[in-house]
Amino acid sequence: MSTTLPDRASRPEYEVTESATGEVVGRFPLATREEVDAVVASAREASEDWGTASVAARTQVLLRFRELVFKHRDDLARAVTREHGKVLTDAAGEVARGLEAADFACGLGHLLKGEATSRVSTAVDAHSVKQPLGVVAGITPFNFPVMVPMWMFPIALACGNAFILKPSEQDPSPSLLLASLLTEAGLPAGVFHVVHGDKVAVDALLHHPDVRAVSFVGSTPVARYVYETGTSLGKRVQALGGAKNHAVVMPDADLDSTADGLVSAAYGSAGQRCMAISVAVAVGASADPLVERLADRVRKLKVGPGHADGVDMGPLVSATHRDRVVGYVDAGVSEGATLVVDGRDTHVDRCEGGFFVGPCLFDHVQPHMTIYQDEIFGPVLGVVRVNTYSEAVKLVNENRWGNGAAIFTNDGGAAHRFELDVEAGMVGINVPIPVPVAYHSFGGWKESLFGDLNVHGPDGFRFYTKLKTVSTRWPDPTHRGIDLGFPTTS
Ligand code: NAD
Repeated sequence: MSTTLPDRASRPEYEVTESATGEVVGRFPLATREEVDAVVASAREASEDWGTASVAARTQVLLRFRELVFKHRDDLARAVTREHGKVLTDAAGEVARGLEAADFACGLGHLLKGEATSRVSTAVDAHSVKQPLGVVAGITPFNFPVMVPMWMFPIALACGNAFILKPSEQDPSPSLLLASLLTEAGLPAGVFHVVHGDKVAVDALLHHPDVRAVSFVGSTPVARYVYETGTSLGKRVQALGGAKNHAVVMPDADLDSTADGLVSAAYGSAGQRCMAISVAVAVGASADPLVERLADRVRKLKVGPGHADGVDMGPLVSATHRDRVVGYVDAGVSEGATLVVDGRDTHVDRCEGGFFVGPCLFDHVQPHMTIYQDEIFGPVLGVVRVNTYSEAVKLVNENRWGNGAAIFTNDGGAAHRFELDVEAGMVGINVPIPVPVAYHSFGGWKESLFGDLNVHGPDGFRFYTKLKTVSTRWPDPTHRGIDLGFPTTS
């Protein structure tokens, strides 16, 4: 069941805007510490029955939920487009990838199987069981308000936990729709909650002793804080952070399809994807023809409101974020990079209040520049020119983030070397956005992930369960009486 906290006039509120117009479309109360405590108490109580419900009963709820999400996929996509700004086809893609995670969670009967070994010793068998943790929380970013929560809660619920979702305050509506679909699917009251809030709510969850595990996705500084705070309090934490994803373009690559892939990966969702390509590393002779092809494509991208037909790229999520992105483009120019395509003065008819920045393309970016050092999280692609494959890999590996990395080449040897050499959690060979399917796990390296386990896939089931290993002795005719020695196998 979802919990929208009681609407009290005294509680601070957050205004949610439609990114394409800047109009306020909702006001959400921000939870206080006491309200979070009440939600955790409710979740804890509900987790007792849900954690002991049969695998069959939990599977039925998840199957019904999966069907309801499919039925309401267009409603979810529209809610994402309105508050986030991404184009409708992109929002539909996000919902589809979330559904994929729900599909995977429906296989809990298989995924929760333990292990068993008979006769580990004379008349002794061993087996393991995976038990729920109790109450777990998910804290999610603005850029995937459906998909990222669905990386977490279907699996957490499948494992028998109660789940508290703290979505981004910038686009919280889709999470309420998901909560109502869980209720309609028959999830018992109290097992799923949505708490709207900011740092106050996050801190209340992190410090509550009954919250056993926290999944976080967002920027690196907050990911580090959540990881350090949660683990210092004895919680299990997986905290996914920011990114600066590189695509290495070898001279032998098919440059037309590479340019198509890079433009899609850099400017889709206006660059507000953790797996967006933000740096193209052009090796040797690939540079001039690559930049020419990129510029040609980028100039043709159509910017407008996400719900309109034929639009390639929508607005950024907020005025603050738009100003931040424009500030980075200004810095790139003043630090000496070549601005090949300038999207700073983009105007969209009848959307004067919207948070638009057109696509920007930089050439001759140097690693010391701010536009290389920082995560911009906007429609800005930078080309860094290097002479060799080794220089390219060194550049990627010296970057502090390691979410995704890609290589474009027709040389199988170079592709294989890259797969082994590169320090990133998700690697694409001629695939610009190598987001693993839901039955594999998703996670970066270095400052892109704090914690030991990735999200969804097999790691998701490991994260949301604790393992218990049982040794059973059966009646033993050779039993020899008391023995104070440490048990060994025989
Ligand atoms: P964010 O870090 O600002 O916010 C994420 C969540 O943390 C939100 O729910 C927010 O309310 C909360 N939060 C914000 N500041 C906080 C604070 N000081 N203390 C406690 N909680 C706080 O991130 P965002 O702007 O919503 O999302 C964009 C970022 O997320 C980018 O850096 C992007 O790369 C990253 N991201 C990473 C992945 C990944 O898989 N690695 C996926 C999506 C997004």
